[in-house]
Amino acid sequence: MNALLSDWTAEFGLPPFADLKDHDFAPAFDAALAEARENIAAIADSPDTPTFANTIEALELAEGLLDRVSGVFYNLAGADSNDTREALMRDLAPKLSAFSSEVTNNKALFSRIETLWQSRQTLDLTAEQSRVLELYRQMFVRSGANLEGEQAARLTEVKSRLAVLGTQFSQNLLADERDWFMPLTEADLEGLPDFVISAARAAGAEKNQPGPVVTLSRSLIVPFLQFSPRRALRQKAYEAWVARGANGNANDNRAIAAETLALREERAKLLGYQSFADFKLEPEMAKTPEAVRGLLMRVWEPARKKALSDAAILEKMLHADGLSGPLEPWDWRYHSEKRRKAEHDLDEAALKPYLSLNAMLAAQFDCANRLFGLEFHEIEGPFYHPDVRGWEVTRNGIHVAVFLGDYFARGSKRSGAWCSAMRSQKKLGADTRPIVVNVCNFAKGEPCLLSYDDARTLFHEFGHALHQMLSNVTYGFISGTSVARDFVELPSQLYEHWLEVPEVLEKHARHWQTGEPMPADLLKRLLAAGTYDQGFATVEFVASALVDLAFHESPAPADPMQKQAEVLEAIGMPHAIRMRHATPHFAHVFSGDGYSSGYYSYMWSEVMDADAFAAFEETGNAFDPETAKRLETFILSAGGSQPAEALYTQFRGRMPGVEPLLKGRGLLEPV
Ligand SMILES: [Zn+2]
Repeated sequence: MNALLSDWTAEFGLPPFADLKDHDFAPAFDAALAEARENIAAIADSPDTPTFANTIEALELAEGLLDRVSGVFYNLAGADSNDTREALMRDLAPKLSAFSSEVTNNKALFSRIETLWQSRQTLDLTAEQSRVLELYRQMFVRSGANLEGEQAARLTEVKSRLAVLGTQFSQNLLADERDWFMPLTEADLEGLPDFVISAARAAGAEKNQPGPVVTLSRSLIVPFLQFSPRRALRQKAYEAWVARGANGNANDNRAIAAETLALREERAKLLGYQSFADFKLEPEMAKTPEAVRGLLMRVWEPARKKALSDAAILEKMLHADGLSGPLEPWDWRYHSEKRRKAEHDLDEAALKPYLSLNAMLAAQFDCANRLFGLEFHEIEGPFYHPDVRGWEVTRNGIHVAVFLGDYFARGSKRSGAWCSAMRSQKKLGADTRPIVVNVCNFAKGEPCLLSYDDARTLFHEFGHALHQMLSNVTYGFISGTSVARDFVELPSQLYEHWLEVPEVLEKHARHWQTGEPMPADLLKRLLAAGTYDQGFATVEFVASALVDLAFHESPAPADPMQKQAEVLEAIGMPHAIRMRHATPHFAHVFSGDGYSSGYYSYMWSEVMDADAFAAFEETGNAFDPETAKRLETFILSAGGSQPAEALYTQFRGRMPGVEPLLKGRGLLEPV
């Protein structure tokens, strides 16, 4: 009995986690693909005149089983992988890519969609239906439905190879991250705060080492770089961190990056675009590479100026410690942390006891309650891993969603933090409520104490979760986070702002042992330090975004590492700062093409989130019910039912400008 194929009868229609067997996935995918093919053939070959119902709505329902099986599998493969799951991912990549090409290459199907599109004025469609029809047609055209013969065949080949390369890139990165660790002696623990020591010990235990180790997990290596006074160890760890995917071993990603870029260019040209960036940006809010570069360069100049003046201060600190030579990338965080303490007297280690995971979860739920009336009740598993926790989300007693939180780093989890839906909201067919997962990589401790940065990540991913949970559309195609890439980070980045509302931390940031609230002056200093080191953060981000953009403008570079060096040289990258993600581990860009020529979109969204939060501030109430209602109506519940610029304008009454972002990052101050 294959649990994946039977009806999911558990409470809330949760997947049968306890009965999931790895060997069931491959046959479940085979069955799901067969069913989807049969459904799609029936639509394409129907003798009936095309209607919205017998074509678009039928397509919406055609892949039900496939959606269900993929929803579970890809969550597990990212959050709790093993050899079987990784092998299956490699097998599935070309199969799924071939299937989706098969659908978009189906001439009979495309002709039905085209017929509907041409007669759309007479079909009496709702606004949502018109939008869904438009997006379906766009998807087919952009996938090559207008191509014939050799060109069509080549496009299919290119896409299938790209899917394989994307999977390989992720797996190489995971392998490099998993294999490397640096043992620490007891003496090496000098200067490290307790939370780093306990995270290093936990990491050592996980790696079956007798003592503590530093790994390449961001939540361990970043605090190590911040606090360890041992420069040689910092350098060793830092160099390993930035070498991920470029170690000259079997996991090297450099050739994969080059091949990926060449194939993307070929794909765009087959479809009639000048470059992959032109192709990729067409459906986005930004629309063109020029608009993206314009935004990035407006931010780059003030950010670089700020970073260089900060670097000069940090270099003086380095020299005051008796060292000579320039400030190096492995020095920045260490001296910056000392400066933070000196100037803001903000000690991360003193802060953390007030930022326990449990306290910050209570804070994120409380904000959602005050803004949107949502309530969260913890429910019992089993879920897919013992560390996972679950909540039922309700409003006025009515079921809204199931929310799962998977917060701790482990070897089987890919790095970073993300939100995904095991099931998305839709009303077509049956009123389907979402199952939404937040995955993070916090160092597991007893108890788990977060840095302020971690707490922001928690709120960020929860903002994405709200976009899924509050979704209220008929068609799954435009549900939740199915919006333009440069719009999708608006809800998440906006939600981070509530962590900065003083009353939120006043209420929730309580010492995990004593229950005492965070001392008022510590809170004040924390909030004042919000713009600290934003020159650094902005520079490492914008540099990555500019390299991403340059990669995808024709011609594709034969040597991406060389191209990366040229871009950094041209913009005057400060010596002591590296890209936030260098090419061989730039998963946003190379693990699939989700954020390719799209990394800028975090900043594009930040322009909007700064402006959107100002809408609350202008009322004098960060929880203003009217503004919250508009946010839900026009953004959080609307999915992709209208173009992003229309949604934003309805929420705010106008489009946003770049000034609130520069102000929010403290980059407008004279340096
Ligand atoms: Zn995000």
